[in-house]
Amino acid sequence: MGLHAPALEERSAPVHEARGQRTEGQAREMVDAHGARRYTASPMNERDALLAWFDANARDLPWRRTRDPYAIWVSEVMLQQTRVETVLRYYERFLARFPDAHALASASEDDVLSMWSGLGYYRRARLLHAGVREVVASYGGRVPDDATSRRALPGVGRYTAGAIGSIAFDREEPLVDGNVARVLSRLRGIDTPLGRRDTEARLWDEAEKVVRGPRPGALNQALMELGATVCTPSSPKCLSCPITRSCVALASDRTDVLPVAKARRAPREVAMVAVVAHDAQGRAMMVRGEKALFGGLWGVPMREGRGAKTAREALREHAIDARLTREPAGHIEHVLTHRRLDVEVFVARLSSASAGTASASAGTGARAVGADDLASVGVSTLTRRILEMSDLTISRFQR
Ligand code: SF4
Repeated sequence: MGLHAPALEERSAPVHEARGQRTEGQAREMVDAHGARRYTASPMNERDALLAWFDANARDLPWRRTRDPYAIWVSEVMLQQTRVETVLRYYERFLARFPDAHALASASEDDVLSMWSGLGYYRRARLLHAGVREVVASYGGRVPDDATSRRALPGVGRYTAGAIGSIAFDREEPLVDGNVARVLSRLRGIDTPLGRRDTEARLWDEAEKVVRGPRPGALNQALMELGATVCTPSSPKCLSCPITRSCVALASDRTDVLPVAKARRAPREVAMVAVVAHDAQGRAMMVRGEKALFGGLWGVPMREGRGAKTAREALREHAIDARLTREPAGHIEHVLTHRRLDVEVFVARLSSASAGTASASAGTGARAVGADDLASVGVSTLTRRILEMSDLTISRFQR
């Protein structure tokens, strides 16, 4: 059941001012039946209402305190598919370690992945690294301010280019992410499924129209913020929305059916074994993980399948000579975007010969990693969980 537009009474009000910035045009202040103040839009000033609302309600997030295109790029990549609360734990730490494009470009991939460790979707970090290296090689470390050059950088799609262009350079460049797609679908009554080519074209077209005008970066952020905090996937808070008057979904009582979701495939169930092969000092043998699943991060040997036989094969594949414990240590269920992994965790003790050469085993692609080394090695969340289950000293590293 969708929400109906609240009964609002118009009050003559001054142009809204916030953070010392006067918004252009008139945003009307409205008072609802309970005396609460709302900003609403006439068809002519939807943009103004959005900007006024954003100035008054935007969350104070660290990436909103900068116009540095490199920092904005980092934040936008981190925020893709990741919650703001999670990114808050990484963003400032990452920038403290790599404060500018030169610092990130000269870092090793392992260094970058270790700072990204736990954020997931590691391909993003690798592409950001490649894109920033290109900026240093071709543009002297300055992120290009023209959209075409930006779009040509590795890992910079239309969304990221638009975010950097509008927020850092104040260009009238549109962007559409999940939040913006939801707001625009409801606002304009777009009722074809998300993800379909015609729907995407329409959304970008609408985003392009609405971004034209003063403060395009703030406008794009207002749409994203509205989607994140007011026009939420379920039970949108239309009573607090600044653009109720022009919202087609609200007027037609379709806020609960728009946007039309794209058909999702159920994640594939995959049975896997993982083997924590350790030496007497509690160091575990780590190998490069499969790129498709773990972005090439270091992790313990894994293999699709079940049981001790598969676990031994996983060890053999990496030339690790170790004796398995009789029973698995336990099971972990781990959900990735398209797969649901059911991981059977085995523990194994390195043979004395292997243990003696563990630290010199780089030739096999495996390396012995102790608790002290873990902070400098990029490992996935799944690897952390596996190590914890194996109950080695190595699992008690600082998160
Ligand atoms: S844009 Fe979203 S929150 Fe605003 S009125 Fe429409 S459905 Fe409600």
